[in-house]
Amino acid sequence: MAAAVTESASARPMVRIRSVRKCFGPVEVLKGISLDVPVGGVVCVVGPSGSGKSTLLRCVNRLETIDSGRIWVDGDLIGYAEKDERLHHLRPSQLCAQRQDIGMVFQRFHLFPHRTALENVMEGPVVVKGVPKAAARRRAMELLDRVGLSGRAGHYPSQLSGGQQQRVAIARSLAMDPKLMLFDEPTSALDPELVQEVLAVMRDLAASGMTMMVVTHEMGFAREVGDNLVFIDGGVIVEQGDPRQVLANPANDRFRAFLGQVL
Ligand code: ADP
Ligand code: MG
Repeated sequence: MAAAVTESASARPMVRIRSVRKCFGPVEVLKGISLDVPVGGVVCVVGPSGSGKSTLLRCVNRLETIDSGRIWVDGDLIGYAEKDERLHHLRPSQLCAQRQDIGMVFQRFHLFPHRTALENVMEGPVVVKGVPKAAARRRAMELLDRVGLSGRAGHYPSQLSGGQQQRVAIARSLAMDPKLMLFDEPTSALDPELVQEVLAVMRDLAASGMTMMVVTHEMGFAREVGDNLVFIDGGVIVEQGDPRQVLANPANDRFRAFLGQVL
């Protein structure tokens, strides 16, 4: 493949975002975002509502196309402008395979309501990857155990708390063996007392070496777990750096004002 499409594995980041622009109609929502996520790194993305955080994650997962710029995931070009005809040799099947490598956890859990926790976690491997049911069940049980829910395998989502449902959703993503996990405000819909159990699972995941992009307002998590904190406002990165440093000493006025509201 052409050099623009693949690059050598040495020292390349898991995610490389370059000059990404994204419009919805006349409104430019991402105005030139460039960002790297190193292999095994945790990048926390914060910013006001409507600043483009979800759109950025959705571009990385190719749930949205971009209008200009490039996004590579693990060296594969996954985001490029449709008008860039040089890149049209990437077929939908390749994109589908690339997307399977990227797990995404949303604010709302999106579990299948008529399936048990175990069945929710087994679904992807069995249906998408063709894993035999017995093997998928064994692995799903391991993953439910990992998120602290082995005792809830037979429960339906309606029988689980929000925190438990979100932990099932994380296990379900992990069942696809992603090399990158995207989290879009995973604790924002939870009652306050359920937030920590989900953050604990994410903390363990980060410690296990998973590469993660996390949109969150949980500054404690960002400070403790994040390698990089990125503040987005109005579709541009306004400030970024080591979370401990930028939170202790925010340079930008808008970032300071934002922190004043969420801390
Ligand atoms: P955030 O996640 O930071 O709150 P979003 O990325 O969801 O922000 O949205 C950024 C802006 O893009 C908002 O103004 C939102 O209304 C707009 N937007 C998001 N998705 C769409 C869409 N599918 N169509 C039109 N506008 C959208
Ligand atoms: Mg959002």
